[in-house]
Amino acid sequence: MTVDLKQQALALSPVLQEIFQALHRCPELGCQERQTAAFIRSRLDELGIEYIPMADTGTAAIIRGGHPGRTIGFRADIDALPINEETNLPYASQNPGVMHACGHDFHTASLLGAAELLNQRKETIHGNIKLFFQPDEEDRGGAAPMIASGCMENPKVDAMLCCHVESLIPTGALSVRTGPICAASNPFTVTLRGRGTHGAKPELGTDVIVAAAQVITALQTISSRRTCPTEAVVATIGSIHAGTAGNVLPPEARLKGILRTMTADARERVKEDFRSIVTGVAAAMGVEADIDIVESYPCCHNDPALTELLRRSAAKILGPENIWELEAPSLGADDFGYFNELVPGCYYYIGVGSETKGFTYPNHNPRFGADPDALWLSAAVEAQAALDFLEG
Ligand SMILES: [Zn+2]
Ligand SMILES: [Zn+2]
Repeated sequence: MTVDLKQQALALSPVLQEIFQALHRCPELGCQERQTAAFIRSRLDELGIEYIPMADTGTAAIIRGGHPGRTIGFRADIDALPINEETNLPYASQNPGVMHACGHDFHTASLLGAAELLNQRKETIHGNIKLFFQPDEEDRGGAAPMIASGCMENPKVDAMLCCHVESLIPTGALSVRTGPICAASNPFTVTLRGRGTHGAKPELGTDVIVAAAQVITALQTISSRRTCPTEAVVATIGSIHAGTAGNVLPPEARLKGILRTMTADARERVKEDFRSIVTGVAAAMGVEADIDIVESYPCCHNDPALTELLRRSAAKILGPENIWELEAPSLGADDFGYFNELVPGCYYYIGVGSETKGFTYPNHNPRFGADPDALWLSAAVEAQAALDFLEG
């Protein structure tokens, strides 16, 4: 069975590369993935796989096995980034300023490959496979609207798998870890309001710039003093705006940033710490603080049993020596966390790097590329994991 699956996946490689290159040529930003959605749906039509359009440009497909059983879900994100491609690849982006620089075209092509492999053997499968082609991972997150549209129900999804390309890992390898894998993110805006005055007469106003400097410095103690040194927490301020001239103290300063945490508990605690520090320091400086914290993506935690299953399934395709242990989680966020909040999940990295082919740039770089020769391996890993989960 395994040999067959691997051989079938290898035979699919040219088709998967064609799909991948077609998607790569026509990248679309989040919530605008119309051509991409049409492409995915027409491929599912060709394969005879049923699906429901969801969350506008999203698609939820299902392969129903010949026998009753559990249901496993896969998420492939489909959106691109506002980056001007500089790869010079023959299949480079034809949409100026938009690029598949995070490999979501690879995820989509790989899952369409797994769909084909699984659909061919559906009569013998116990249970179902759901395939979510999800919009807008990079911006506001398409996972939540797809869940709200009911993709996790009828039949209810028991577990979710999700791969992400990684160009720092070579083609043929895969990296995963048990436990925390992606961070929860809480973007924030702090607006400090004081009384503007002449730069030579600070005593007549309340200085929001000095207050902002104190707030920024004090916020560093969230990770250094309020968090256990072995726990990962980041409070980053990436934008600060205040003032128009060197001799004027402005009435307002605005700070923007993101809080990143690895557990639901830490997320609540850090938000509380953040509020108390900003409010307290602002009060001490005599200015007012408006705090706006947005609930963005939840963290992803890899379920131990599901991660072990993924390791074993991937080893059948890639060889046990090519299953790498990821030492530390990423403080990056992925809206796969919304699926992972509902059911056990496993998020893993598939190698798409190649020194010889020049696929060495990190994702979100204008020269990023994913090795098309990794597509069939990724599709085979997904299909093998689905079969192993449903047999178990
Ligand atoms: Zn990305
Ligand atoms: Zn991505």
